[in-house]
Amino acid sequence: MAERLEKLGLRTLRDVVEHLPRAYLDWGDATGLGELRLGQEATVACTVERVSVRPTRRRNLKIVEAVVTDESGARAVAVWFNQAWLADRLTPGTRLLVHGTLEPGRGLPSLRVDRHEIAGDGAGLHTTGLVPLYPASEEVSTWKLRELTEAALAPARFFADALPARLRVEESAPLRADALRAAHRPRERAEAEAARERLAFEELLVLQLGFLRRRRAVEEQTSAPALGDEGELVGRYRDVLPFTLTEEQQAAIKEIREDLRDRRPMQRLLQGDVGSGKTVVALYALLRAVEAGHQGVLMAPTETLAEQHFLTIEGLCRDLGVSCELLTSSLPARQHREVRERLESGEAEIGVGTHALIQEGVEFRSLAVAVVDEQHRFGVEQRRALGRATPHVLHMTATPIPRTLAQTVYGDLDVTEIARPPRGRRPVVTRWVSHERSAEAYTRLRRHLTDGRQAYVVCPLVSESEAIEARAAEGEAERLREAELAGFRVGCLHGKLRPTERREVMDAFKRGELDVLVATTVIEVGVDVPNATIMIVQEADRFGLAQLHQLRGRVGRGGEQSYCLLVSRPKDDLTEEASRRLEALVETGDGFALAEVDLELRGEGQLLGTRQSGLTDLKFTQLARDRHLIAKAREWAERLADGELEILDPLRREAERIENNRGFA
Ligand code: ADP
Ligand code: MG
Repeated sequence: MAERLEKLGLRTLRDVVEHLPRAYLDWGDATGLGELRLGQEATVACTVERVSVRPTRRRNLKIVEAVVTDESGARAVAVWFNQAWLADRLTPGTRLLVHGTLEPGRGLPSLRVDRHEIAGDGAGLHTTGLVPLYPASEEVSTWKLRELTEAALAPARFFADALPARLRVEESAPLRADALRAAHRPRERAEAEAARERLAFEELLVLQLGFLRRRRAVEEQTSAPALGDEGELVGRYRDVLPFTLTEEQQAAIKEIREDLRDRRPMQRLLQGDVGSGKTVVALYALLRAVEAGHQGVLMAPTETLAEQHFLTIEGLCRDLGVSCELLTSSLPARQHREVRERLESGEAEIGVGTHALIQEGVEFRSLAVAVVDEQHRFGVEQRRALGRATPHVLHMTATPIPRTLAQTVYGDLDVTEIARPPRGRRPVVTRWVSHERSAEAYTRLRRHLTDGRQAYVVCPLVSESEAIEARAAEGEAERLREAELAGFRVGCLHGKLRPTERREVMDAFKRGELDVLVATTVIEVGVDVPNATIMIVQEADRFGLAQLHQLRGRVGRGGEQSYCLLVSRPKDDLTEEASRRLEALVETGDGFALAEVDLELRGEGQLLGTRQSGLTDLKFTQLARDRHLIAKAREWAERLADGELEILDPLRREAERIENNRGFA
């Protein structure tokens, strides 16, 4: 049994009581037989008078019939199919709770039994009131879980409550043990929901407190160079930019400017859709380091992305007379060493590369700002590894999530948003095209090509392996060269190419020597070719919402009207969820709005699946519903961290778990 329970994640008593029902069946209170109408389904308290087993014409089917009576003397025949063994247990005088439907019978009405319980201590658990339905498994039934939780609730009363009394009073929050009981055995549905919220609040409080402590640990244990006021270099930077910064970019820069003034290390997250102009803001932070006589690094999750960033940044740096180096593990050994030497001497002022930049014993003369692009952990440990002077850190993400959620997912970071792309950029026109009409999609794509534009074709997602996906992409590129794209120059980009090959393909596309890039999702981030104005995504229903939105961000990067054509099976063949995803994409280009839809469709687990966060084991919280609790939890976490209230031991233990294990710092 222990093994089977473990598969459900239930090891301790605490696990069992925290395994909340997923729903409740309302079976009402037990009624008397006499009050039952024909056809009515109800739970009845009754006593067995006599029992018999009746064979039927079907060989294996036996029927158990028990004449039952209630206190008022009303009688019926309770009928069970195929449970002959029951007959021995239903001795005359046995008291029963029977849930079933009353039907006309021969003589006495018959009660077709759906569930029954033999009355005893705690009877009614399975048949009366709101009957909990648990997330169960084939091996551990919801019935068994009801019994287990029932047994566990009593000892769970003696668990210490983590919430300080004053908090409980001010928030009118019940004791945890009471909330648990109410969640398992509610009298009304509203009671169950209130109990779940109470548990969710505590969970969010723990998370926030953990984040806060983590944040403060960084502030206490490390310090970054104070960069003071802006200098001449960033002034020139603004001048060389071929555009003026948007209001949102300026607001983001202002926040970063304030952060950098201080010795307290910046811990900020910059959220914004692909193409919203984050890189420009990031470079501002890097240049602030340089002009104050320090260095900056930008770290990307992949080599391709690092190369992309390098190309953008190097161009601007050259105009500014700032030295910039790319460091990736695919550099030849000698070059790799030379770049490292230049970083160590300070000759290189800005370093761009993968995460390896700060991990493999690369030394800096004086690192003041680190920009971390996409989902990379830059924690206390990394700061410690860098020694005394640790950098200000700016995280960037192109999969923005609603602000309240960001405060939960990235609770130890300040959050800045760039919600609107630079003006003048026209939203990408997105169309949902069925298979049968995909020929028209290619006609449209060819029209763009003959107008001198470029295009992407995204191949179907293949989950088996990158190798299979790569082969499929190559096959598709080959096919298109012969068919729809005959006469055009078609390149192919996938994850199995060597870095130099990938670079060659990308460069050729950038230089306009290729008209079309047939690609897997490797083009999802970082590729920036303003002349590419149309994208076809094949079998778009297989992709996730965020992924499609990211892919779409590859077009619409220049001034031209751009298009994204999502080819899929007809709507009737799609799941409800897949249709909703495609519809949402057609409807809006706003990443924040899409994140909301994604959250609604898939729940937070999926949405946040790939992120570093404390969310993976939020047991009670349903973020889509519980947003109002997040701000409240944050406030209380601050009051607790400020010492206004005593942090009780259980809360401290939990918060330390979060503090030490998870999240950005
Ligand atoms: P992100 O990093 O958020 O995906 P980028 O910083 O790469 O976005 O910007 C996308 C494109 O928009 C780039 O080609 C960039 O030069 C351009 N861009 C950035 N800011 C502005 C602006 N304020 N006005 C016009 N174009 C801009
Ligand atoms: Mg970018």
